[in-house]
Amino acid sequence: MGKLGCKCGHFIVDQADSLEYKGYILPDSHFDDVSENLTKNIDSLLEANKNGKRLEWIKEKFKVPPYPTDLKDSSMIYDLLNVIDTTQDIFECENCGRIAIQVGQTNEFKFFKPDSNNTKGILRGKKK
Ligand SMILES: [Zn+2]
Repeated sequence: MGKLGCKCGHFIVDQADSLEYKGYILPDSHFDDVSENLTKNIDSLLEANKNGKRLEWIKEKFKVPPYPTDLKDSSMIYDLLNVIDTTQDIFECENCGRIAIQVGQTNEFKFFKPDSNNTKGILRGKKK
């Protein structure tokens, strides 16, 4: 996204990882797709490893080359996650607290204004 202009004049900047004012929304209608995609890929990779067909599995899932054939299983499973294709970005304006939600997978965002003043940091979550 780069920069998103908020209605208050502040620019929401999306140019780093682990932003405290950014999140992802996974619509309930896509939740099963993401879960099934993940578990099917894990199952099929385990099966391929058990049957000595790891290389065939990699070639079926990725374009080899340039995709490497010496990655860890977890890296390949990560690359097959379809979370990015199904989630919508959500940002909090650090200045005014407005919430911006991506419309589908487009470059358009809709803004929502909080109805109280104590919502700042709503996307920070809590690390254990
Ligand atoms: Zn704002």
